[in-house]
Amino acid sequence: MFYATNSYFCGISSNQSILESPIEFLKGVGPQRGELLRTELEISTFEDLLYHYPYRYADRSQVTRIGFIDPKTEYVQLVGTLVNISEEGEGRKKRLIATLYDDTGRIDLLWFQGAQWMKKSLKENVRYIVYGKLNYFNGVVNIAHPEIELLNAETSIPGRQPVYPTTEKLKVRGVTNRSFAKLTQALFEKLQPGDVMEILPQELRNQYKLCGRFQALRWIHFPDTEEHEQAARHRMKWEELFLSQLKIGRLRLQHTAQQGWHFGKVGDTFNEFFSKHLPFPLTNAQKRVLKEIRQDTGTGKQMNRLLQGDVGSGKTIVALMSMLLALDNGFQACIMAPTEILAQQHYFSISGMLRDMGIEVRLLTGNVKGKPRKEILEQLADGSLRIVVGTHALLEDNVQFKNLGLAVIDEQHRFGVGQRARLWKKNEMPPHILVMTATPIPRTLAMTMYGDLDVSVIDELPPGRQPIKTILARDMERARVMQFMRSEVDKGRQAYIVYPLIEESEKMDYESLMAGYEQVKIWFDENKYRIAMVHGRQEAAERERNMQRFAKGEANVLVATTVIEVGVNVPNASVMLIESAERFGLSQMHQLRGRVGRGAEQSYCILLAGSKVSDESYKRLQIMVSTNDGFKIAEEDLAMRGPGDMYGTKQSGLIKFKLADIVQDSGILEETRVAALNMLTNDPGLTSAQHQPLRYVLSQQGKQSHWGKIS
Ligand code: ADP
Ligand code: MG
Repeated sequence: MFYATNSYFCGISSNQSILESPIEFLKGVGPQRGELLRTELEISTFEDLLYHYPYRYADRSQVTRIGFIDPKTEYVQLVGTLVNISEEGEGRKKRLIATLYDDTGRIDLLWFQGAQWMKKSLKENVRYIVYGKLNYFNGVVNIAHPEIELLNAETSIPGRQPVYPTTEKLKVRGVTNRSFAKLTQALFEKLQPGDVMEILPQELRNQYKLCGRFQALRWIHFPDTEEHEQAARHRMKWEELFLSQLKIGRLRLQHTAQQGWHFGKVGDTFNEFFSKHLPFPLTNAQKRVLKEIRQDTGTGKQMNRLLQGDVGSGKTIVALMSMLLALDNGFQACIMAPTEILAQQHYFSISGMLRDMGIEVRLLTGNVKGKPRKEILEQLADGSLRIVVGTHALLEDNVQFKNLGLAVIDEQHRFGVGQRARLWKKNEMPPHILVMTATPIPRTLAMTMYGDLDVSVIDELPPGRQPIKTILARDMERARVMQFMRSEVDKGRQAYIVYPLIEESEKMDYESLMAGYEQVKIWFDENKYRIAMVHGRQEAAERERNMQRFAKGEANVLVATTVIEVGVNVPNASVMLIESAERFGLSQMHQLRGRVGRGAEQSYCILLAGSKVSDESYKRLQIMVSTNDGFKIAEEDLAMRGPGDMYGTKQSGLIKFKLADIVQDSGILEETRVAALNMLTNDPGLTSAQHQPLRYVLSQQGKQSHWGKIS
């Protein structure tokens, strides 16, 4: 993340040539270092160096005398004479040791990497200035991989010094923090304020008390006071978030301007379904969301709506009825799920609900081949098939619709944004888009990732659900846990046992799954119980078959990895055991837990934790025990993990910031949202003279991602 390049600022400098200069032309770099900077940190121009920010600042104004080193300090700066440079060990264990002394004491300096190179560059019996982190080992103190620099008449004791992200290789090759600071210094000696163009209009800077861009960049590298440092960071964070909000605001404007199919009426299919075939009365939340969808699709503009609802809140029926609306207006509709299993489940439940109405529904996934596939493609092209359920197989170019009016995308975050954009292209006129997600999205994240979509929320569970009881148990209580599971199964319920398999390739996880399966067989005697197993290493067809056995009630117990995470609906399953629960993330556990509690029975989720549980894992487990509220859990998850990991959206340019953190800087985020909306209200096209730099920056960013339309 620190290494993100900043090419989007290229060209907004009035004096382009200087910032675009190759890094080796900077004083103190040269060809060798230039090559290193390029390969190690992707710094290839002056500009890249300018945006290579320090991540903290070290106080290097003090020099400690070696005899007075305080064991409580973390970093020290020393001045002394170097002696006894020697190599120890062999081969990969080879290391370099040297001793530094002053008139109060001595200390060892160590290098484990680049020993050879260091040995060549260090000299005995000369004075050095050394900075590094103290290690205590068996009561002896030393410093490994210190920053070390010859002390001569020109060397000054640094003051407050920026600490830059770097690599071991660069350090060993002598490109230390001090070097970075010097290089950046050299850069600023060359730069004029005009070389870095201001992009935020003066008015805005006054209103929000933001310092100028050039000033901010200088202070980020060389803050003379903490206040300046804060001001500089604040300004650059503000700019980052503001740009993202402007971008989203513009997408939103595009959406609202986008013509869409006009669903003018509620017709026979919708009404017939509603009056005769509805399997249960809708909750108020479901009714409200349907109304919002009807309003959206009736305006003649394209709908771009995100439907959030916790697991089990009943999104499928909303999707189905929206599709009927499309049919009533003469259009086709599709629903796309991220996995084969999910697509199948949707297919079964949707075709089941529509069976008595004589509406044909077909399933299109990668597994549908040959004649059936050809048939489906023909039917979609000539319009005779009006509802299709599928996976990303629907996105393939040879899948052509006669008139796709609505696309529902389930479990949205599993789809790459680019993939969704392909769906858009299937028509001259884009279909209405309903994105459904079962992972509640914290407000800050929703604002950044989905700020261009309208949001509907199902905030009510179907009636009669009992809250799931979540219990934290330790490994030593396994026997009791298994007995409990068995007693539930004996009541006619079904049970999930979930193992961590974070990476499908992880051999250890796979082995523990297999071992676990053998264990389960001891508790659930094969003569009496049926056990099915699903995991990512099985062939899709086999996984499918096992899943179906469980779904149809033929198997009592499903031993599984997280492949069952999303969307699987087996109402008779009322117990879930999560093995090594400490290894799961919060949102993931919440998703898993949502597989039970779908019927009227009291459901249980047992979190079985291993013997070694970190404080953080323990906190996660406690949160799971204390609440069933998906939004609360998502907020906690975001706070604990940060946005990058959470939805597998590390790639998303919308949440990748150099400095800003949408959790910690949520105040700035709110501010920039208001400011961006304001600006776009007054100048939607950003055409006024003072907005040109912003417009330019956005257009440069736009070039990097073409997918904005749907997401
Ligand atoms: P999700 O929002 O997780 O996709 P589903 O649409 O799969 O949830 O619904 C979960 C379960 O709740 C299903 O078994 C469904 O039939 C049932 N359900 C949905 N809406 C209602 C309702 N209004 N009343 C009773 N049961 C409902
Ligand atoms: Mg669902």
